[in-house]
Amino acid sequence: MEKLKNFINGQFIEPINGQYLDNYEPATGKVYSLIPDSDEKDIELAIQAAEKAFPIWSKMSIEDRSEIMLKIAKGIEDRMDDFVKAESRDNGKPEKLALQVDIPRAVSNFHFFATGILHFASESHAMEGIGVNYTTRKPIGIVGCISPWNLPLYLFTWKIAPALAAGNCVIAKPSEVTPYTAYLLGQVIKESGMPDGVLNIVHGYGHRAGDAIVKHPLVKAISFTGGTKTGEYIAQTAAPMFKKLSLELGGKNPNIIFDDCDFDKMLATTVQSSFANQGQICLCGSRIFVQRGIYEKFKTAFVERVNALKVSFPSDPTAKMGALVSKPHLEKVISYIELAKSEGGKVIAGGKQVHLDAPYNEGYYLQATVIEGLSYACRTNQEEIFGPVVTLTPFDTEEEVLMMANSTKYGLSATLWTNNLQRAHRMANEIDAGIVWINSWLVRDLRTPFGGIKASGVGREGGWDALRFFTEAKNVFIKY
Ligand code: NAD
Repeated sequence: MEKLKNFINGQFIEPINGQYLDNYEPATGKVYSLIPDSDEKDIELAIQAAEKAFPIWSKMSIEDRSEIMLKIAKGIEDRMDDFVKAESRDNGKPEKLALQVDIPRAVSNFHFFATGILHFASESHAMEGIGVNYTTRKPIGIVGCISPWNLPLYLFTWKIAPALAAGNCVIAKPSEVTPYTAYLLGQVIKESGMPDGVLNIVHGYGHRAGDAIVKHPLVKAISFTGGTKTGEYIAQTAAPMFKKLSLELGGKNPNIIFDDCDFDKMLATTVQSSFANQGQICLCGSRIFVQRGIYEKFKTAFVERVNALKVSFPSDPTAKMGALVSKPHLEKVISYIELAKSEGGKVIAGGKQVHLDAPYNEGYYLQATVIEGLSYACRTNQEEIFGPVVTLTPFDTEEEVLMMANSTKYGLSATLWTNNLQRAHRMANEIDAGIVWINSWLVRDLRTPFGGIKASGVGREGGWDALRFFTEAKNVFIKY
């Protein structure tokens, strides 16, 4: 069986303790490779490599750094097919989705920050007749990047690319559930001419390898994407060490549909925003609020579309949904469907596991599920499920829907469907979310601030926000 290796100091090496974890293929439920079960010794090795590399990388001209990063973007693009197949096999998502979204976005992440850094400038503030301030922005040093399993390479590179562009050395840990494309990325890095030790990719459990990154005194900043509970733990550990922290956490996003919307466009996008990537996108709209005038019409049309979504193995080109990422996650999502029933909810579409023929008969497949009849305040409508499950709730007024939309502890994103301009702006202003899409969903401009409020996180990624996070500002004043 294939054994993945850590990528430390430009070399592929085994974990020091010689221990490995099983890597499952969600489509079949079978173990297909082994992942290093790294611990603090491997992290220490990576830190030593990064320490040596930092003076070289941080002092390299920005143009040369940019050139190397562009080669990495091209290197991923040149191996598109390998990356697509690996991502889909590791995660269970349809290959089509990995080809259209995940891997092209990883290419864009490197491309965007490789070119962005060429235009990154710091400020100068003149004090008339007194003197002038200028601010420099230097790389922080060694930083830690920890990412989740839902968009594996997409989110891994979304952190690594700005960290590297800003001149830092990186210790990165992909999710132990989906390590494969990060492993392939190491191969691309090796061919790109990036000095050894600049990017170190260490595999393993969060509570072991991840924790060792967070606790290491030489890691000066942590960029983390994952669950709110994990974020809370990381903040508790890192805050007393005065580390810079960027936390992108969970969500329970409202999708608010007014009866004056463009119904057909809304319907097509709402199917996407509910079930893309098996509903395992932090930005999916899992609570659908529909104004009462079109509630029945919407329900009928939506359920018809949802029932037609084909759940199949990831390499099936006609698959609209693939497998969920793991058995424990499948069980968690099913337990929420049971909870919803016990809370008085009625399953009006899906709700059941899907059993495909061999060799996929042990895979983690679940129908796209729609539930109605629940109170906005019940657990099903307050807790993150992170799977192909949405709830429908009718509403009458703007005030009522705002109250329900803002009632959760989360505040990541929101989607609004209305053709009333004033209402669109009014609602966007009032809603508790870091990102609002009006008459659209998941349209991304990499220059814009990305992140959530409340329990959805601290800080923003993207554009200058990311480059500012990964640099330390120093202000210098000179008297005239
Ligand atoms: P998770 O928190 O279990 O794991 C995320 C990463 O953190 C993994 O690499 C894991 O190994 C590591 N980790 C776990 N415990 C750790 C610890 N004690 N110290 C250091 N690292 C640790 O999350 P997950 O299940 O992989 O991902 C799903 C969650 O991610 C959902 O809640 C989802 O909403 C969230 N998410 C948020 C965004 C966003 O942009 N806000 C994007 C994608 C996913």
